[in-house]
Amino acid sequence: MRKPIIVGNWKMNKTIAEAVEFIQAVDPVCHDHATYGVATSFLALNEANKLAKNLIVAAENCHFEDSGAFTGEVSVPMLEEIGVKYCIIGHSERRQMFGDTDETVNKKAKRLIEAGITPIVCIGETEAQFDAKETEKVIRDQLSGSLAGLCPKCVSNLVVAYEPIWAIGTGKSATKEIAQNCCHIVRDQIRVMYGDEAADKVRIQYGGSVKHGNIAEYMAMEDIDGALIGGASLKADSFKEIIEKTK
Ligand code: 13P
Repeated sequence: MRKPIIVGNWKMNKTIAEAVEFIQAVDPVCHDHATYGVATSFLALNEANKLAKNLIVAAENCHFEDSGAFTGEVSVPMLEEIGVKYCIIGHSERRQMFGDTDETVNKKAKRLIEAGITPIVCIGETEAQFDAKETEKVIRDQLSGSLAGLCPKCVSNLVVAYEPIWAIGTGKSATKEIAQNCCHIVRDQIRVMYGDEAADKVRIQYGGSVKHGNIAEYMAMEDIDGALIGGASLKADSFKEIIEKTK
């Protein structure tokens, strides 16, 4: 039985004060049917993590090296020091704008796992790849690269977020059938790479224009174990409705 995990990815939004206000409003209404969380800016992480009792708090990125001349980057030991337990890696915005590749995502995943931090590994195809019917190949290739050389037990514990790029921030969410089919491909590729136990335990999120009005239909699908939510996670009331809809 996989416990669903629903995480708001705030991206470059919310000051520390705004993060605190959100957590004070939302933390008390979390329930045990799912794990709920928010991914904050590096600046808000410490405060958010100290305050949250029920919500999990995730970083939105990390560097794979522990220290060195990498201006502007944050390392895994820095996240460890403040007790962060989850970290998004390979989000399509980072892949498209900041040079993340399957290879660097793989290095980040390995370093996070070593530190006992759960990676939320993002993958997903572009609109052109979707139109060219390349989605399955893209998903399998991204997973082969991003999850290479991990131990099967480590893979059981991680989270994969399937986020078709054409559905991110566009309001054009994937149908529940497309989302299910792609999350099934994710699980199958993990089965091919790491066997049945890893495939049956890994939690797979769908992301892309998820909101309170459509989350229940995704969550009802067999291979979808949660969601990674951008825009609809920014307002406390909207996230509370999502929490209410997933009881
Ligand atoms: P939206 O929910 O705004 O489409 O963003 C999805 C996303 O990128 C979450 O990581």
